[in-house]
Amino acid sequence: MPDPRYLTWNEKWLIAPDMINCSECYAAQFMVNRDTDFEHGPTCTRRGPGQRPYMELLVMLTAIQDDLPDGH
Ligand SMILES: [Zn+2]
Repeated sequence: MPDPRYLTWNEKWLIAPDMINCSECYAAQFMVNRDTDFEHGPTCTRRGPGQRPYMELLVMLTAIQDDLPDGH
């Protein structure tokens, strides 16, 4: 089963072709910056260290892939 923490990904983030936005402050992170911590807007309640939405998405998708019965 996927880590339950990843099941709320779509409530926290908005995905666009080349960026991910915070669903609250709409700050953006471009894909090229995926290995750096997400920077929220100055008043966003979700500000905090260590947020890597691209990496969370990758882990979530990998967990889903691992759950496929035929291993594809
Ligand atoms: Zn935010």
